[in-house]
Amino acid sequence: MKQTAISVQDLYVSYFGTEAVSGVTLDIESGNLVGIVGPNGAGKSTFIKSVLGLIPRDKGLVNILGAPVKEVQKQIAYVPQRNHIDWDFPITVLDAVLLGTYPKLKWFRRPRKKEKQWAMECLRRVGMEDFSRRQIGELSGGQQQRVFLARALAQEADVFFLDEPFVGVDVSSEETIVKILKELCRHGKTVVVVHHDLSKAQEYFDQLILLNKELVGFGAVQDVFQPDVMQRAYQTPFAFMNEMGV
Ligand code: ADP
Repeated sequence: MKQTAISVQDLYVSYFGTEAVSGVTLDIESGNLVGIVGPNGAGKSTFIKSVLGLIPRDKGLVNILGAPVKEVQKQIAYVPQRNHIDWDFPITVLDAVLLGTYPKLKWFRRPRKKEKQWAMECLRRVGMEDFSRRQIGELSGGQQQRVFLARALAQEADVFFLDEPFVGVDVSSEETIVKILKELCRHGKTVVVVHHDLSKAQEYFDQLILLNKELVGFGAVQDVFQPDVMQRAYQTPFAFMNEMGV
Protein backbone atom coordinates (compact mmCIF):
# COMPACT_ATOMS: atom_id res chain seq x y z
CA MET A 1 0.00 0.00 0.00
CA LYS A 2 1.22 3.50 -0.82
CA GLN A 3 1.89 5.81 2.07
CA THR A 4 3.57 9.16 2.44
CA ALA A 5 7.25 8.31 2.85
CA ILE A 6 8.61 11.84 3.07
CA SER A 7 6.67 14.92 4.00
CA VAL A 8 8.34 18.33 3.89
CA GLN A 9 6.47 21.48 4.88
CA ASP A 10 7.70 25.01 4.44
CA LEU A 11 11.40 24.17 4.72
CA TYR A 12 13.88 27.05 5.00
CA VAL A 13 17.65 26.64 5.39
CA SER A 14 20.37 29.27 5.35
CA TYR A 15 24.12 29.50 5.85
CA PHE A 16 25.31 32.55 7.79
CA GLY A 17 22.18 34.47 6.89
CA THR A 18 22.14 33.52 3.18
CA GLU A 19 19.16 31.45 2.19
CA ALA A 20 19.97 28.16 0.44
CA VAL A 21 16.55 26.48 0.53
CA SER A 22 13.43 28.59 0.62
CA GLY A 23 9.89 27.53 1.46
CA VAL A 24 9.90 23.99 0.07
CA THR A 25 6.76 21.91 0.60
CA LEU A 26 6.24 18.47 -0.90
CA ASP A 27 5.06 14.93 -0.14
CA ILE A 28 6.70 11.86 -1.64
CA GLU A 29 4.80 8.59 -1.71
CA SER A 30 6.57 5.34 -0.95
CA GLY A 31 7.82 3.26 -3.88
CA ASN A 32 9.10 6.22 -5.89
CA LEU A 33 12.55 6.78 -7.32
CA VAL A 34 12.90 10.54 -7.07
CA GLY A 35 15.62 12.67 -8.62
CA ILE A 36 16.58 16.08 -7.24
CA VAL A 37 17.77 18.25 -10.10
CA GLY A 38 18.66 21.91 -10.44
CA PRO A 39 21.69 24.03 -11.30
CA ASN A 40 24.90 24.10 -9.28
CA GLY A 41 24.36 25.75 -5.92
CA ALA A 42 20.57 25.29 -6.17
CA GLY A 43 20.44 23.81 -2.67
CA LYS A 44 20.08 20.13 -3.66
CA SER A 45 22.58 18.80 -1.09
CA THR A 46 21.39 21.29 1.47
CA PHE A 47 17.85 20.06 0.95
CA ILE A 48 18.63 16.42 1.69
CA LYS A 49 20.97 17.21 4.56
CA SER A 50 18.34 19.39 6.19
CA VAL A 51 15.60 16.82 5.57
CA LEU A 52 17.83 14.29 7.34
CA GLY A 53 18.47 16.69 10.21
CA LEU A 54 22.23 16.78 9.51
CA ILE A 55 22.14 20.56 9.27
CA PRO A 56 19.74 22.83 11.12
CA ARG A 57 16.58 24.21 9.56
CA ASP A 58 15.53 27.80 10.02
CA LYS A 59 11.94 26.73 9.72
CA GLY A 60 9.89 23.80 8.51
CA LEU A 61 8.52 20.41 9.40
CA VAL A 62 9.85 17.13 8.08
CA ASN A 63 8.32 13.71 8.66
CA ILE A 64 9.66 10.46 7.31
CA LEU A 65 7.36 7.45 7.42
CA GLY A 66 4.99 9.57 9.47
CA ALA A 67 7.45 10.45 12.23
CA PRO A 68 10.23 12.93 12.96
CA VAL A 69 13.56 11.78 11.51
CA LYS A 70 15.21 10.98 14.83
CA GLU A 71 12.49 8.46 15.63
CA VAL A 72 12.96 6.56 12.37
CA GLN A 73 16.72 6.85 11.84
CA LYS A 74 17.20 3.11 11.53
CA GLN A 75 14.85 3.09 8.57
CA ILE A 76 16.78 5.77 6.71
CA ALA A 77 19.97 5.16 4.75
CA TYR A 78 22.14 8.03 3.51
CA VAL A 79 24.96 7.80 1.00
CA PRO A 80 26.83 11.14 1.03
CA GLN A 81 28.85 12.55 -1.84
CA ARG A 82 31.95 10.46 -2.42
CA ASN A 83 34.28 13.42 -2.07
CA HIS A 84 32.94 14.02 1.44
CA ILE A 85 34.16 10.64 2.65
CA ASP A 86 37.63 10.01 4.07
CA TRP A 87 38.85 7.20 1.82
CA ASP A 88 42.16 6.92 3.70
CA PHE A 89 40.29 5.63 6.71
CA PRO A 90 41.69 2.11 7.21
CA ILE A 91 38.69 -0.17 6.88
CA THR A 92 38.02 -3.18 4.70
CA VAL A 93 35.12 -3.41 2.28
CA LEU A 94 33.40 -6.05 4.44
CA ASP A 95 33.75 -3.96 7.60
CA ALA A 96 32.41 -0.88 5.81
CA VAL A 97 29.32 -2.86 4.81
CA LEU A 98 29.01 -4.38 8.29
CA LEU A 99 28.67 -0.84 9.64
CA GLY A 100 25.31 -0.83 7.91
CA THR A 101 24.12 -3.63 10.18
CA TYR A 102 25.03 -1.75 13.37
CA PRO A 103 21.77 0.17 13.80
CA LYS A 104 19.94 -3.16 14.05
CA LEU A 105 22.42 -4.78 16.44
CA LYS A 106 21.63 -4.87 20.13
CA TRP A 107 23.79 -2.80 22.48
CA PHE A 108 27.34 -4.11 22.98
CA ARG A 109 26.95 -6.88 20.44
CA ARG A 110 29.52 -7.16 17.74
CA PRO A 111 28.50 -8.45 14.33
CA ARG A 112 28.53 -12.23 14.14
CA LYS A 113 28.33 -14.81 11.42
CA LYS A 114 24.75 -13.92 10.55
CA GLU A 115 25.61 -10.25 10.02
CA LYS A 116 28.74 -11.16 8.05
CA GLN A 117 26.74 -13.44 5.77
CA TRP A 118 24.19 -10.70 5.25
CA ALA A 119 26.94 -8.15 4.49
CA MET A 120 28.42 -10.59 1.93
CA GLU A 121 24.99 -11.03 0.37
CA CYS A 122 24.71 -7.24 0.03
CA LEU A 123 28.17 -7.14 -1.56
CA ARG A 124 27.03 -9.82 -4.00
CA ARG A 125 24.05 -7.73 -5.01
CA VAL A 126 26.35 -4.89 -6.02
CA GLY A 127 28.87 -7.26 -7.66
CA MET A 128 31.64 -6.61 -5.09
CA GLU A 129 31.85 -9.92 -3.21
CA ASP A 130 35.38 -10.60 -4.51
CA PHE A 131 36.64 -7.37 -2.95
CA SER A 132 35.51 -7.97 0.63
CA ARG A 133 39.05 -7.97 2.12
CA ARG A 134 40.30 -4.93 0.24
CA GLN A 135 40.80 -1.57 1.89
CA ILE A 136 38.14 0.89 0.71
CA GLY A 137 40.87 3.38 -0.26
CA GLU A 138 42.17 0.93 -2.88
CA LEU A 139 38.93 0.86 -4.86
CA SER A 140 37.94 2.81 -7.96
CA GLY A 141 35.21 5.47 -7.69
CA GLY A 142 32.57 3.12 -9.07
CA GLN A 143 33.60 0.31 -6.74
CA GLN A 144 33.53 2.64 -3.73
CA GLN A 145 30.05 3.78 -4.63
CA ARG A 146 28.88 0.17 -4.98
CA VAL A 147 30.27 -0.60 -1.52
CA PHE A 148 28.43 2.35 -0.06
CA LEU A 149 25.24 1.17 -1.67
CA ALA A 150 25.90 -2.30 -0.20
CA ARG A 151 26.24 -0.67 3.22
CA ALA A 152 22.89 1.07 2.72
CA LEU A 153 21.33 -2.25 1.63
CA ALA A 154 22.79 -3.97 4.70
CA GLN A 155 20.92 -1.48 6.85
CA GLU A 156 17.59 -2.75 5.43
CA ALA A 157 16.27 0.78 5.40
CA ASP A 158 12.94 1.83 3.91
CA VAL A 159 13.99 5.26 2.69
CA PHE A 160 17.28 5.89 0.89
CA PHE A 161 19.00 9.21 0.16
CA LEU A 162 21.97 9.33 -2.22
CA ASP A 163 23.90 12.51 -2.98
CA GLU A 164 25.40 12.53 -6.50
CA PRO A 165 26.09 8.78 -6.54
CA PHE A 166 27.26 8.72 -10.16
CA VAL A 167 29.99 11.36 -10.04
CA GLY A 168 33.36 9.76 -10.87
CA VAL A 169 31.68 6.40 -11.41
CA ASP A 170 32.16 4.11 -14.43
CA VAL A 171 29.22 3.31 -16.71
CA SER A 172 28.84 -0.28 -15.57
CA SER A 173 28.75 0.70 -11.87
CA GLU A 174 26.20 3.39 -12.68
CA GLU A 175 24.02 0.81 -14.46
CA THR A 176 24.31 -1.63 -11.56
CA ILE A 177 23.41 1.06 -9.04
CA VAL A 178 20.39 2.27 -11.04
CA LYS A 179 19.13 -1.29 -11.45
CA ILE A 180 19.32 -1.88 -7.70
CA LEU A 181 17.62 1.43 -6.91
CA LYS A 182 14.77 0.54 -9.28
CA GLU A 183 14.42 -2.87 -7.62
CA LEU A 184 14.25 -1.26 -4.19
CA CYS A 185 11.40 0.95 -5.37
CA ARG A 186 9.56 -2.01 -6.86
CA HIS A 187 9.67 -3.48 -3.36
CA GLY A 188 8.03 -0.37 -1.92
CA LYS A 189 11.19 1.42 -0.76
CA THR A 190 11.58 5.13 -1.43
CA VAL A 191 14.77 6.43 -3.01
CA VAL A 192 15.82 10.07 -3.37
CA VAL A 193 18.87 10.87 -5.48
CA VAL A 194 20.62 14.21 -6.02
CA HIS A 195 21.61 14.10 -9.65
CA HIS A 196 22.99 16.85 -11.84
CA ASP A 197 23.13 15.02 -15.21
CA LEU A 198 19.86 15.81 -16.95
CA SER A 199 20.53 13.50 -19.89
CA LYS A 200 19.56 10.45 -17.79
CA ALA A 201 16.81 12.00 -15.70
CA GLN A 202 13.90 10.63 -17.71
CA GLU A 203 15.38 7.16 -17.90
CA TYR A 204 16.18 6.89 -14.21
CA PHE A 205 13.44 8.57 -12.21
CA ASP A 206 9.70 8.30 -11.56
CA GLN A 207 9.51 11.79 -10.12
CA LEU A 208 11.64 14.90 -10.14
CA ILE A 209 12.18 17.61 -7.57
CA LEU A 210 13.39 20.65 -9.49
CA LEU A 211 15.11 23.06 -7.17
CA ASN A 212 16.60 26.47 -7.50
CA LYS A 213 16.58 27.51 -3.88
CA GLU A 214 12.80 27.43 -4.16
CA LEU A 215 10.82 24.47 -5.43
CA VAL A 216 10.46 25.16 -9.15
CA GLY A 217 8.77 21.88 -10.03
CA PHE A 218 7.76 18.61 -8.44
CA GLY A 219 5.90 15.62 -9.81
CA ALA A 220 6.01 12.89 -12.42
CA VAL A 221 9.17 13.09 -14.47
CA GLN A 222 7.27 13.65 -17.72
CA ASP A 223 5.52 16.68 -16.21
CA VAL A 224 8.60 18.32 -14.74
CA PHE A 225 10.98 17.49 -17.57
CA GLN A 226 9.37 20.08 -19.83
CA PRO A 227 11.26 22.93 -21.47
CA ASP A 228 9.22 25.71 -19.87
CA VAL A 229 9.47 24.20 -16.38
CA MET A 230 13.18 23.32 -16.60
CA GLN A 231 14.03 26.71 -18.03
CA ARG A 232 12.59 28.38 -14.95
CA ALA A 233 15.25 26.69 -12.83
CA TYR A 234 18.21 26.70 -15.19
CA GLN A 235 17.60 29.97 -16.98
CA THR A 236 19.29 28.38 -20.00
CA PRO A 237 17.51 27.45 -23.23
CA PHE A 238 16.45 23.91 -22.47
CA ALA A 239 17.36 22.48 -25.87
CA PHE A 240 21.04 22.86 -24.98
CA MET A 241 20.87 21.40 -21.52
CA ASN A 242 20.32 17.81 -22.60
CA GLU A 243 23.34 17.86 -24.86
CA MET A 244 25.49 19.43 -22.21
CA GLY A 245 24.36 16.91 -19.59
CA VAL A 246 24.06 19.84 -17.16
P1 ADP B 1 23.81 22.02 -4.82
O1 ADP B 1 23.86 20.73 -4.08
O2 ADP B 1 22.52 22.22 -5.55
O3 ADP B 1 24.99 22.26 -5.73
P2 ADP B 1 24.31 23.15 -2.21
O4 ADP B 1 23.20 22.69 -1.36
O5 ADP B 1 25.63 22.47 -2.09
O6 ADP B 1 23.83 23.19 -3.73
O7 ADP B 1 24.57 24.70 -1.91
C1 ADP B 1 23.51 25.67 -1.91
C2 ADP B 1 24.10 27.02 -1.57
O8 ADP B 1 24.56 27.02 -0.23
C3 ADP B 1 25.28 27.41 -2.43
O9 ADP B 1 25.23 28.80 -2.67
C4 ADP B 1 26.48 27.06 -1.57
O10 ADP B 1 27.56 27.87 -1.86
C5 ADP B 1 25.93 27.32 -0.17
N1 ADP B 1 26.55 26.41 0.83
C6 ADP B 1 26.53 25.06 0.80
N2 ADP B 1 27.15 24.55 1.87
C7 ADP B 1 27.59 25.61 2.61
C8 ADP B 1 28.31 25.76 3.83
N3 ADP B 1 28.71 24.69 4.51
N4 ADP B 1 28.57 26.98 4.26
C9 ADP B 1 28.18 28.08 3.57
N5 ADP B 1 27.50 28.03 2.41
C10 ADP B 1 27.20 26.82 1.93
